Amino acid sequence: MYNTIIIGAGPVGSYLAGKLARLSYKVLVLEKKMAAGQDICCTGIVSRECLDLIHLDKGLITRQVSSARFLAPSGKSIRMQRSHKVAYIIDRPALNTQLAGRAQESGASYLFGTQVTDIQVETERLQVLANCGGQKRLFEAETAVIATGFGSPLPGRLDLGEIKDFVIGAQAEVNVVDLDEVEIYLDQKLAPSGFAWLVPTRDNRGLAGLLTNHQPERHLKKLISTLETQDKITSDRAAPVYGAIPLRPLPKTYADRILVAGEAAGQVKPTTGGGIYYGLLCADIAAGTLDQAFKIHDLSESRLASYQKNWRDRLGKELQVGYWAHRLYRKLDNRNIERLHDLVSKNGVPQFVAELDHFSFDWHSELIFKTLKHLAIAIPARAIKPPSNVVRA
Ligand SMILES: Cc1cc2nc3c(=O)[nH]c(=O)nc-3n(C[C@H](O)[C@H](O)[C@H](O)COP(=O)(O)OP(=O)(O)OC[C@H]3O[C@@H](n4cnc5c(N)ncnc54)[C@H](O)[C@@H]3O)c2cc1C
Repeated sequence: MYNTIIIGAGPVGSYLAGKLARLSYKVLVLEKKMAAGQDICCTGIVSRECLDLIHLDKGLITRQVSSARFLAPSGKSIRMQRSHKVAYIIDRPALNTQLAGRAQESGASYLFGTQVTDIQVETERLQVLANCGGQKRLFEAETAVIATGFGSPLPGRLDLGEIKDFVIGAQAEVNVVDLDEVEIYLDQKLAPSGFAWLVPTRDNRGLAGLLTNHQPERHLKKLISTLETQDKITSDRAAPVYGAIPLRPLPKTYADRILVAGEAAGQVKPTTGGGIYYGLLCADIAAGTLDQAFKIHDLSESRLASYQKNWRDRLGKELQVGYWAHRLYRKLDNRNIERLHDLVSKNGVPQFVAELDHFSFDWHSELIFKTLKHLAIAIPARAIKPPSNVVRA
């Protein structure tokens, strides 16, 4: 009988497992893969705040980032730069391995190759049913946390709702040629409803990828051949990997004896699809909620509801504004993206962003509002032309 069973040994599940184990709870992590760092689909770009939160081993950082180049469909580019490092590219499989290792050192037990198929909540405990190498197994605990990433049927089975809006990420490791900066491609033909990227990692290697709402395989192939034609990459070295990213939060992230955390709960930046930092922040909130609930022997839904209130208080505005920005962007065609790109370039936005007192890689709503305000002041009224079908008085 465990205090908590965590389903999924991604960064969120393992970080939470470590936290609870250090609070002396008996924790079991069930992971369907055979190892924590296996088959990862992620670029691994995180902020300083994120690194500080997990006290990441510096050896896992492959590159430090203080600038990025944003390219319009025509190839015109804008360079955004800050005087200090704003993001870090990390060895993403190693992050999973390190967090799982630390949780185990703190006392959490792990079972790999174990896919959870159902959770049955009872009055005094819950039962977790799993498929372990073809054998059915049953585990008992007081509580469970679903940290499965996006797409698991478990939240739906527990009547917690469904996330209907998502994008699909596709990525491949490539050889890069003279690339020293992150490049972001804003082009609805390359990455419909999303964007594409080329990110240098180390030793002339990099990650080429994109987010889109359909046909990720076809679009990744096209991206790679475009980058090859432009002599930015020489060949893709690894098989492509794919993963869906939720754009909205799960309607309900708690029930009797249950919490949902990380990507499974939709705790992801809708602007970029980045979910590591928000998931870890919510894992902190989940650990605090469970600790308090265990102490007063109340694991009921009404007690655990504070988890959702607290994480929505922290992230709600960001998720809302980020989703709005994403929706606005995906309505633009390439002609409009080109015009927006010109507008940003000609009205000093790169300079404005470079000089902002405060810039955060994780909290985008403030940056969006400040940039819009800057544009509203910078663009002369005569530049805003009425549509041609408006008859002037
Ligand atoms: C192409 C791409 C690029 C990305 N780049 C970035 C980036 O640069 N920065 C960033 O912050 N985020 C990025 N993300 C998002 C980031 O990868 C996720 O937000 C993050 O991994 C979420 O962590 P998690 O622990 O919630 O879920 P996951 O990392 O998905 O881990 C969930 C684990 O649960 C296991 N599991 C699932 N179902 C079961 C089951 N039934 N039983 C047992 N185990 C199960 C899975 O095997 C997995 O190991 C990217 C995503 C994609 C697709």
